[in-house]
Amino acid sequence: MQPTIFHKIIAGEIPADIVYDTDEVLGFKDIHPQAPTHILFIAKLEKDFVSSIIDITDQTAHVPTKLIQAAKEFATEQGIDGYQLKFHCGKDGGQEVFFLHLHFLSQQSL
Ligand code: AMP
Repeated sequence: MQPTIFHKIIAGEIPADIVYDTDEVLGFKDIHPQAPTHILFIAKLEKDFVSSIIDITDQTAHVPTKLIQAAKEFATEQGIDGYQLKFHCGKDGGQEVFFLHLHFLSQQSL
């Protein structure tokens, strides 16, 4: 499998505006924001890699929950009260990058 742009962000090979970083999850600003705050959350560990919700298995079923928990923690840290969370699932669902990511969108600015 070819490394995706998000693999390169984790490896530090291309820059990203990182706003949330733990041992397991990275959150960074979407390069083409669709809301005043638009963050992408991804799982950092190789064992947690999954390309899409469509490809989730019993072994990776915990990963979306980790991303949602990270988004919730981020919102609390930032004092953001309301937001939308979205997964684009598969090409026909608008997914362009095949490295599972959670979109966090809020009308509140950071
Ligand atoms: P999706 O359509 O769910 O696959 O969304 C992929 C998202 O990644 C889009 O919203 C892009 O704007 C965003 N994106 C692509 N390249 C980068 C990058 N280098 N840094 C930050 N966001 C990116």
